[in-house]
Amino acid sequence: MKKISRASWNAIAPSGPYSRISSPRGVKIHYTGGPVPADIAGPTKHRLCVQHVHHIQQMHMSGGRGETYIDIGYNLICCPHGYTFIGRGVHHLPAANGPGLNSGHYAVLGLVGSSGFTKPNSALLHALRDAIEYLREEGGAGNEIKGHRDGYSTSCPGDDLYAWAKRGAPRPDEPLEKPIKITYEDGIPLWPGRVIRLADPYMQGNDVKTWQYKLRKRGWTIDVDGIYGPKSKAVCASYQDKVGAKPTGVIDEETWDLTWSWKPPAA
Ligand SMILES: [Zn+2]
Ligand SMILES: [Zn+2]
Repeated sequence: MKKISRASWNAIAPSGPYSRISSPRGVKIHYTGGPVPADIAGPTKHRLCVQHVHHIQQMHMSGGRGETYIDIGYNLICCPHGYTFIGRGVHHLPAANGPGLNSGHYAVLGLVGSSGFTKPNSALLHALRDAIEYLREEGGAGNEIKGHRDGYSTSCPGDDLYAWAKRGAPRPDEPLEKPIKITYEDGIPLWPGRVIRLADPYMQGNDVKTWQYKLRKRGWTIDVDGIYGPKSKAVCASYQDKVGAKPTGVIDEETWDLTWSWKPPAA
């Protein structure tokens, strides 16, 4: 599973303790039930996924679903780039299945909407399949695969995802493509859509490599290995300090852009 940890997506901490579940009967699949940008699956649009997940968390925690949740209602959230965001995670009671239905199944959201992006692509189906297997292996989930509409009056998870779930959520034939492709616009690579920070395990990827390469070009001593370790963090903080940003050692969107856009003052 291509996991995006809560730290990586900058999740808000839960406002209260989770209730524990040990071995639910299986997994229920959901969609957003609202609009999702039609172009969200584009290779440079992963930042829209991150924004969407933030938005859903804020909505759930501020009572947008009628009741104030302690956290995003889903255990996992899968995006059309093949990533899985950790929501409540394993062994925690979800809040998305409806009253009385949360202890029976984990809740997994596919970032598909009722308008805009409505048909899951193959990367999203891979991610959902990965999520189901992860919940079985790590979360004690049983073999049931259902949709939100099973036992509850809702259109969720939409006809396409529901039909796929009914078929047993098969893995698509096409292999999963490589993660996050960095594309350049005006010489500045588009922000990959995830905050890069020192984490355990270390964050890795083409985005880290692209950033390291630029810092080396700017004259810093840094390995271009695509792994964001303590040395990368130190270089990041030092660079931020130099360009007048707060030296956090965290590559957020602003720091990412500054990596390319900053120009040394004329001598
Ligand atoms: Zn649902
Ligand atoms: Zn995405």
